[in-house]
Order: sequence, then structure tokens, then C-alpha cells
Amino acid sequence: MPSSGTNEAILWNALFEGAWDGMVVMRRDGSLYRANRRYAEMLGYRREELESMHVWDLDTRFSRRVILAMLHRVDSAGAHFETQQRRQDGSLIDVELSNNAATFEGDKLIFCVVRDITARRATEARLRQSEALLRGIASQVPGALYQYRMAPDGSRSFPYFSQGIVELGGLPLEEIWGPGTETAMSRILPEDAERVEAQTRHSAATLSQVHVEFRALHADGSIRWIECRSTPQQEADGGILWTGILLDITQRKLAEARVQTMAITDGLTGITNRQELGRLLEKEMARASRYASPLSLIMYDLDHFKRINDRFGHNSGDDVLKTVARLVNDSLRGIDHHGRWGGEEFMVLLPETGLAAASKVAEKLRRAIAGQRFETLGTVTASFGVVELADGEDSRSLVQRVDEALYRAKELGRNRVEARASRQGAQ
Ligand code: GH3
Ligand code: MG
Ligand code: MG
Repeated sequence: MPSSGTNEAILWNALFEGAWDGMVVMRRDGSLYRANRRYAEMLGYRREELESMHVWDLDTRFSRRVILAMLHRVDSAGAHFETQQRRQDGSLIDVELSNNAATFEGDKLIFCVVRDITARRATEARLRQSEALLRGIASQVPGALYQYRMAPDGSRSFPYFSQGIVELGGLPLEEIWGPGTETAMSRILPEDAERVEAQTRHSAATLSQVHVEFRALHADGSIRWIECRSTPQQEADGGILWTGILLDITQRKLAEARVQTMAITDGLTGITNRQELGRLLEKEMARASRYASPLSLIMYDLDHFKRINDRFGHNSGDDVLKTVARLVNDSLRGIDHHGRWGGEEFMVLLPETGLAAASKVAEKLRRAIAGQRFETLGTVTASFGVVELADGEDSRSLVQRVDEALYRAKELGRNRVEARASRQGAQ
């Protein structure tokens, strides 16, 4: 402290005593020369007690030898470091020290400002802990955790991606994270991007959760289904921050598609099953009446199929069914529907087709089946009924009529096509 002038001494003393930080003056031999009120409070000692102690009585981190060496090194350029000190009651505090050396009344003294950083350290430790926890969780959850931000000016960014994004997109983290959101967002297929954007805007407007599924291009060239769930949060500046998760649900989507296909497919022949055929019939009937367009229905049944089973076995019978189904499928147009109605009875639904044209199709199918040679069992034939939907007719009536036409083809000798005009028309 300056020695000249009483007023100045009062000024310096006020500064020293009133400081919010601890202040302590030390001698080079490590003894404490003066401590201010705040430093005494900080350590829980009375000032006289402190002034009879040495630095190493308080410091828990450095030895007496190291402290003496440090004190010798301190010069007017100062030294700044962190350490830990023990309070009178034995508890520990983290402190930040700023040291300066100066000569006072012939002695070289060290002036030290001591700041208690225990709370800051604890906060830092908690932050490190929660960062480690987040990293731990992020590495455990499947998929990627992310944050997406929409600034008040509408600009977008990804403040956070967990490591999982690398596997999800197949790109290195630096690349996918890139500046802005362009690199990541450009992976979303254009057909789905609009839906994702619409959900994002809706969520921003209503602060509701985002739950959207979309397809994205993986770096390996494959298309992946991604499920996105995130929660928006309004930020102080008016921006919106979403925190969420991205999951690769490609396998689930494929499984769903397989189940969906199985539900409408006949297990033996791989063509449309009866249930789906019924649905398609209703759909095509509604469309035909809406557009006043013709719709015809063919039903065919293999001739004397019991005999084939009896003579060659059920497995051979199954093979015949599969082959016949494939033959007929290959002879139809893309808009026709071919399904297994039951046993060895099949139906073909022909939109935009009148009775005459449908009869020609049936004739072509009959010939295709009859012309097919099967190993060991030779040839099989089928009988066909053909009808055209009449005005105001329902599906029950239509199916009954085609069944009757088929029955007639059987009656008239099999391996033939019988067309039936509607009830109103001539038989
Ligand atoms: P028709 O000429 O009068 O039709 O004589 P059909 O012997 O074919 O008589 P019907 O159509 O009434 O008989 C159906 C037979 O088809 C009964 C059954 O043995 C056989 N069948 C039905 N479903 C299957 C199947 O999934 N696999 C095999 N192998 N045979 C079947
Ligand atoms: Mg039969
Ligand atoms: Mg039958």
C-alpha cells in the first residue's frame, strides 16, 4: 500500500477493505502479511489468525516447495491460476488467484486477488456431467437426436446432431451438418419434402409436436424411411427450437408392405385373393356407374379337376393352379384384375369392356389354358362364364349371373365360353 499521504492511504484502504473479492498480501517466504475482510470471510478465519499463517497452510494443491518457487517467480507481470484452499472448518473452496509482485518499504511483496469460483466450478461440473449423460443417451438410442432452429427472420439451422446422424445418412458429420440446413434437408425425397415443410410450419404456428415419416436418400444410394418426432419450444428472441429424434424405420416399412401384400394376395398362386377381389369389384362397379362405362366379369373353373388331383396327387394339382393363374395373368391388360375366387375358380374383372370384347378375352384365355402342356398330366381345360354389368345391378346379382353362365358352359360340355346378357336383355 502507498505510504505517502493520509488521504491516499484512506482511499487505498477503502478499496482493499471494500473489495468484493478476497485480497491478500504475502511475503516471499510464504507468510501472509495482510488479508482483507472478504478473504477472511471466504476462509472463515479471523484476520489476525490469517496473518500468522503461511500460504501452504491454506492451499491443498501445491506443496510448500512448489509454492515458494512460485512466489519467487512472480514479478510485476503477474501470474494467474486456479487452486483449492481449505477453510477454517475444513471445507474446501475453489479459488482463482491473480498475483502481482511489487516492492513495498524495501520488501518484495506479493499482492493477490482471490476469487471464490466454487459455484462456477460446481456449475461447470454439472454441465460436464449432463453433457456426458446426453452423449451417453445419444449413443444408446437408435437413430439420431437433433435440434432444429427457425430464427425470427425465418432462417433455419441445426444447432445439434448426435453421432447417430452419420449412420442414418451415411455422410460424415461435418458434411451433413454443413452450413445452414441445405445438405441435410436436400436428402429428403422431393415428393416428401413438401409434407415435412408443411408439418414444420404447422408445428411452428401451433407449437404442436412434429410426427412425420419421410423418405431420404442414403449416401449408399438406397432410399431409407425416416420417422421424425420432435417438440418445439419458443425461444426468448421469438425463434423456435425443435428437439427431436430421427429413426430409420425402413425395415418396419418393408415389413408393413409385406403384411399389406400378404393380406390381399392368394398364398398359392400369388394373384389377388377373394377378399381383395370383392373390394375391387365394388370399386370398379362404382366407377363404371359414375362414368357410365362398361364393366365385364369373367369367371372360370378348371374342368374335372378332382380327377387331376386323384390321378396325379394334390401337389400336381397345385402346380396346375399356379401355372394357369400365371398364363391368364400374362394374357391380361394392366387395368384388368385377376383373382382366385376359391378352390380352382378364378375371376377376371375387365373395366372399360363390353360383353362382346370380354367374351373374346375369355376365348383367348380358354385357348391359352387348353394349349398348355403339363409334364405327365398332359393338358387341362377350363370353362368360362362372361357377363356385363347392367344398369343399377348390384355385385351379388352380377356374381350370381356369372356363376350361372359358368354353370351353363359346364352343362354344354366344358372347355367353352358362355356369355350372358343382362336379365333385361335377351338370353
Ligand atoms: P368340374 O369340371 O365340374 O368343375 O369338375 P371338378 O372336378 O373340377 O369339380 P369342382 O370344380 O366342383 O371340384 C373342385 C375340385 O378342385 C375339388 C378339389 O379337389 C379341387 N381343389 C380345390 N381347391 C384346390 C387346391 O387348392 N389345390 C388342389 N390341388 N385342388 C383343389
Ligand atoms: Mg372344376
Ligand atoms: Mg370348382
